Amino acid sequence: MAYGSARAFAAVFHAIGLEAEPTPPSDHRTRELGARYTSGDECYPAKVTVGDFMKVLEDPRVDPSRVAFFMPTAEGPCRFGQYAPYLRHVLDANGFGAVQILSPTSENSYDGMGALAKPFVRSGWRALLCADLLEKLLLMRRPYEQVRGDAESVYEECLADLCRTIETTTVEPGAQLSALEQSMTRARDRFRKLEAPREREHPLIGIVGEIFCRLNTFSNENLIGSLEQYGAEAWLSDIVEWVWYTNSEVFRKLRLERRLWTLEALGAWVRQRVQRHDEHRLVDVFRDDFAGREEPDIYEILECARPYLPREGAFGEMVLNVGKAVYLAKKGAAGIIDISPFTCMNGIVCEAVYPKLSRDLGGIPIRNFYFDGTQSDLDRDLGVYMELARNHKKKRG
Ligand code: SF4
Repeated sequence: MAYGSARAFAAVFHAIGLEAEPTPPSDHRTRELGARYTSGDECYPAKVTVGDFMKVLEDPRVDPSRVAFFMPTAEGPCRFGQYAPYLRHVLDANGFGAVQILSPTSENSYDGMGALAKPFVRSGWRALLCADLLEKLLLMRRPYEQVRGDAESVYEECLADLCRTIETTTVEPGAQLSALEQSMTRARDRFRKLEAPREREHPLIGIVGEIFCRLNTFSNENLIGSLEQYGAEAWLSDIVEWVWYTNSEVFRKLRLERRLWTLEALGAWVRQRVQRHDEHRLVDVFRDDFAGREEPDIYEILECARPYLPREGAFGEMVLNVGKAVYLAKKGAAGIIDISPFTCMNGIVCEAVYPKLSRDLGGIPIRNFYFDGTQSDLDRDLGVYMELARNHKKKRG
């Protein structure tokens, strides 16, 4: 998860009466422990998450029998589905059998959480939505700030406000939603106090890619921060996009299995209605602020992907990345960057599709950046890439 999403999610655990905190910031020790406890064949996100979890366990103040790691899982073609069982294996093999793993699955849109499922899933959804909104505000304002660091400190203030609101408000749905709306309104007003850009003249770069690596600044070497140093504004694909996608997959499978008129389908439909309602109320706070930067409906992304990777023949993030790249180009992006872990099959498939996509979209520069913790020329490569993006913007007029 992104930093803000992890903090907001930890606040949700507090709200339902459980102690929780995000793993401490990743650092060189994360990489050391990740390398020690993995074989080298795993994806980079597995290495980083295992490293972060083992870092928690090496703290002498931590009692392993009181620890549970939150590691969602998912159905699909990629290795993410193996993360939770793999983590279990690593823990057992290294004497941490007492550590629990909490692992809801996307197969049922993450509602397999026992008695706490309802408040947890709904509050968790709202927390992710709000964290995404704050991050979007930050990315829209930071490239244009007058005083360096202003946007970041406003963001931190808003995030603290969000977490406090989640922790101190009842999980009763109506009261919680109103409180979150108020928190988002305060956030909007704080960001509005920063001097607004007269024109958004920086080249807009769309960021797609593997969900962990694109959202986790440690894993992607703070690529967006470096891009901003080169005078870009980034539009980052958010985390809720994945939740909408898993919902849409539930319906696709129900349709395929001719089970659209079942209780299960009704449950999925109600859940989707509720989620849409929450999203509408929270996003509406920023209607003016996000003008021109509206997030698309998931079915619009899937339609954008259809000529290249139709969802019926491909699955998972590769479809979203290609579809979102098309959408972002249509919204005026001067370039697209795909952030992926080294050897990630999603990134590799997308890389094969991007040349055609670029040709179809007037030559927009699209580039994959792969990460495995050994990136050395990122800054130079971004400099070259930004030249291409600037030229494309000029050419397009
Ligand atoms: S998306 Fe890529 S990096 Fe992430 S788990 Fe799947 S294969 Fe690994």
